[in-house]
Amino acid sequence: MQDYLYSWLNIHKAKPARIEFPKTVEELQSLLRSLKQQQQPYNFIGSSHSYNAIQLVDGNVAIVFDGSGLKNIEYDYITHEVSVEAGVTIEELKFFLRPLGRQLLTSGNFMKQRVIGGVITGTHGYDHESAIMADSITAAKLLTEDGELIEITEKEDEETLKYLRVSFGYLGVLVSATLKTKPNEQFRVKQQIFPLSQLQEKIDQAAQQPHALTMFPYSDREDPYVGFISLEKLKRYHPPKQVNLATPLISNISWAIIKLFWKIDARVPQIRPFVQQLIGRLAVNRETEIIITSPDDLDYLYDYHPMLESERNPSLARRFLSSNFTAYNVAVFVPKAQLVPLLTFIYKLGQEFRHQTPPKFFKNSLGVRYVGQSKKCAMAGNYLLESYAVELFFATQDLEFAEKVQNRIAEHFPIRPHWGKTILKSYALKHIDPKVIQTFKQKRQEYVGSGLLKPNLGELESELC
Ligand SMILES: Cc1cc2nc3c(=O)[nH]c(=O)nc-3n(C[C@H](O)[C@H](O)[C@H](O)COP(=O)(O)OP(=O)(O)OC[C@H]3O[C@@H](n4cnc5c(N)ncnc54)[C@H](O)[C@@H]3O)c2cc1C
Repeated sequence: MQDYLYSWLNIHKAKPARIEFPKTVEELQSLLRSLKQQQQPYNFIGSSHSYNAIQLVDGNVAIVFDGSGLKNIEYDYITHEVSVEAGVTIEELKFFLRPLGRQLLTSGNFMKQRVIGGVITGTHGYDHESAIMADSITAAKLLTEDGELIEITEKEDEETLKYLRVSFGYLGVLVSATLKTKPNEQFRVKQQIFPLSQLQEKIDQAAQQPHALTMFPYSDREDPYVGFISLEKLKRYHPPKQVNLATPLISNISWAIIKLFWKIDARVPQIRPFVQQLIGRLAVNRETEIIITSPDDLDYLYDYHPMLESERNPSLARRFLSSNFTAYNVAVFVPKAQLVPLLTFIYKLGQEFRHQTPPKFFKNSLGVRYVGQSKKCAMAGNYLLESYAVELFFATQDLEFAEKVQNRIAEHFPIRPHWGKTILKSYALKHIDPKVIQTFKQKRQEYVGSGLLKPNLGELESELC
């Protein structure tokens, strides 16, 4: 038997009482009934990709959707909606939709998460109308702790769905969710690099377009560089940018260099400012880059070149600065007006910590995505508030440093949580409307009155029960 369950990059772990892999809704129903009868605490796990370990609890029965069951996908030609069960990953869903000429309204920058695991924590891309994946849910099937199957649709009970969409496994298990899809689209992506001092002006210019940015906190002592991308939707077809397929020799050599660089970077973090300054100097003189995306591309939102990055030779510069495979991610939502002050504050924090003994460095760059406002997910960080999601990256051994940085940010800015990334401290609820929290607690009482369903809510557990 497997003793421990782990999160991404093995950063967090938990020893569950036992692990269950239900393959059908009926199996899950009878499991829930017997857990209730035995008064045994439990929680659900998708792909275990939440950085903050909300899915990992010592001593609980862990109910894992590992992909060998609950894999049905159904597409409706009339409504263009797609329904998925709990075991389906975002990647599987995208491949299913591609031959139909359809795609999700949005998704995150990684595709191995279960669709339901992703939506339920507020996973987002960047956009104006549907940055949070869960906004596109029109119906969901929930099992109560008594194994009762309830279907909640936006037509009949939008008020409940508003709480279920982002409910981080606290209101019961979603066995299936129905999501809107859209036809494939093409974008003209514009990439620019400029100093932080120009950011407000660029944001104002891009206000009507989806946009995201990356800040390199050590790239300049006074005014760090920002890489900025905005997406303009095309009205007519344009030939997309062509790209060469990966060649095994170049790919293998590139990966060997990248992995060597990652090892050096982990042992000698002091090289990060040097690398960022070098890249900043070279990048700032580059012309603005324009790329036309391919209509059937699966991840154009993050990787504008046609096909998946894994199908091409890796880019050394991009991989040297990439954080997905090397770093621990902490993210918070902030109101639009706070973005530039927050980035300036983070830049100064970076300078302060790098001059402490021992010095501490952010890992790579910071990611920022415009997530607009959600009207459909009451517990989402951007509920009724035009927001940006700000993501900080840390070396996997720097979790204490990560927590210190999040605490310092929360002292000065009205942050709201990303349920799969924010370290769950009591201040994470401070800026959510108390009436919303009250209703969420009532829904919890209604569906999980015994309190046996317990995801890892850290300091928030007492606040939400
Ligand atoms: C490399 C990487 C890249 C990422 N990129 C992004 C990004 O671009 N944007 C973004 O917003 N986030 C991103 N994330 C965060 C990630 O999308 C979320 O944390 C997501 O919730 C992970 O999905 P999962 O299936 O692994 O869920 P888990 O981490 O396994 O579970 C998350 C929560 O959902 C609950 N849960 C899971 N399935 C069910 C179910 N069927 N019913 C009820 N509750 C359930 C669990 O109990 C838990 O509380 C990224 C994470 C990684 C590791």
